[in-house]
Amino acid sequence: MVAIGVDVGGTKCLAVALNSDGSVLDSLTLPTAAGVGVVEEVADLCVALALRVGQAATSLGVGMPGTVSRDGVVYLAPHLPEVRQMPMRELLSSQLGIPVVVDNDATCAGVAEWKNGAARNCDNALVITIGTGIGAALIANGKVMRGHHGFAGESGHHIVMHGGEVCPCGRRGCWEQYASGSALRRLANGVSGEEILLRVVQEDTEAQRILEEFASWVALGLFNLVNTLDPQVIVLGGGLGSSAVLRHFVADALGKQMPPSELRPPPLVVTAQLGHEAGAIGAALLGKEVIE
Ligand SMILES: [Zn+2]
Repeated sequence: MVAIGVDVGGTKCLAVALNSDGSVLDSLTLPTAAGVGVVEEVADLCVALALRVGQAATSLGVGMPGTVSRDGVVYLAPHLPEVRQMPMRELLSSQLGIPVVVDNDATCAGVAEWKNGAARNCDNALVITIGTGIGAALIANGKVMRGHHGFAGESGHHIVMHGGEVCPCGRRGCWEQYASGSALRRLANGVSGEEILLRVVQEDTEAQRILEEFASWVALGLFNLVNTLDPQVIVLGGGLGSSAVLRHFVADALGKQMPPSELRPPPLVVTAQLGHEAGAIGAALLGKEVIE
């Protein structure tokens, strides 16, 4: 029995096959196909990976960027503009003849960290993915909070600056315009986040100042979420978010905005443990749940 999970990214699709104990058996990556061709691609990846591990796929989970309804309809995917209200779960399940789950990619990454990673055994956790944009998974009372449509966790579009920077969502001042990888690059006048983190380790004071300012924006959004959800732990993941250096700066900034007090103990801030495979692993775990 093998559960397959596919994480559809802006440039590549990563598929993983999970053993019955939840460990990764094998993985496969392909460049992301344009538009609705992505459905065929995900189906092909599932079949190819199952063949490679020599076992039939018993379920498929798919993580998609953007808004995905609770019944697996992809309403809007920022990197696939042709995809609009596409019934991805139905299309894949009739093509493959196995149970299929389709969910938001950040939700999938959050599920992976919650079940098998940094938020294991936590009933209330916030998993924030910081890369080009910001994604969030909200774990509340031992369940993934999905909301009425399934669109909960679009926290990157919380407004943190009235009339601020323009966001691709059409509004101004969204959190991800101040606290994502692209925001750090803008703050650093075009220098990449990776380079800034390196310079901070080399004790470059200008890079430290920039990262401190950036971390205070990250902490501002986290503070709002802490007030809403009261998590035990905040997991920072994603390309930029998984950095131990950034975690240190963010925990420090959150401590300043939310001074430690025995009357209001602050949540732990930790880095994600499952790396770039988190989204695909979480998707596979969600697919597996359906048949258990
Ligand atoms: Zn926005």
